Amino acid sequence: MQLEDLHTHSTMSDGRLTPQQLAEAARDRGIRVGLTDHCLYYGMRTDEEFATYMETARNLGLYLGLEHDIGRPCAFPGFITRELDYLIGSVHHFIVGYEQVLFSPYFKARLHGLPYEYPQALGDPRELLERTADIIAQSLATSPVDILGHVTVLPPAHVLGLEAAFSRDWCARVVKAAVANDVAIEISGHWHSPHREFLEIASEEGATFAVGSDSHSAHGLFDLRYPAEMIAGLGIPDGRIFVPLSKAPRVRR
Ligand SMILES: [Zn+2]
Ligand SMILES: [Zn+2]
Repeated sequence: MQLEDLHTHSTMSDGRLTPQQLAEAARDRGIRVGLTDHCLYYGMRTDEEFATYMETARNLGLYLGLEHDIGRPCAFPGFITRELDYLIGSVHHFIVGYEQVLFSPYFKARLHGLPYEYPQALGDPRELLERTADIIAQSLATSPVDILGHVTVLPPAHVLGLEAAFSRDWCARVVKAAVANDVAIEISGHWHSPHREFLEIASEEGATFAVGSDSHSAHGLFDLRYPAEMIAGLGIPDGRIFVPLSKAPRVRR
């Protein structure tokens, strides 16, 4: 099965390549690609920005996706939810009292191997993971998310270890929330997440999986080697790989 890259960012949020460059690269590579820029907090906010985004993705023949920030109200305009091919939901922040702690410094540090200091405000890392599992479960049950993005890319992993942070119970809880709500679990090329044990549990529980690079630039663009390796290694059948119910991309040239 030819894997499709369902998680990419462009200059319409925090990516470096224009949607046109992404579409061109996808054509060169011969793969189907979904544009999933951030909305509301990190990316587009106004109806006009949404409308331009949608038109751009459609005109370029890209799947029309979005990456929603789990833990914030899923309140983008109705016209876009009706049109979307799919919605990714990922955790990018945590709210402590009135303060929101963004995870972007952790993402940057993890990606570039830079030093990172776990913010005191996040409190006990194990407790944070438990709360995050609650938030994920609640969000998947109440918002129209189709794909759970980079689910183990969380700051407690910095303190507790990339895989050791996630107990079997934690993994099973998150997996069950995804399965119960018919949400695919993303296997991320960029983050090499989730790790194999998580994916084994997900596979046993009958989860479906989605594949994405989460590329923000030419670096790692459409890099699906990790997902391909995991899918082959775990023997995940094609029928358990999420394919957007495409309102088929219309290519206008
Ligand atoms: Zn993300
Ligand atoms: Zn992303």
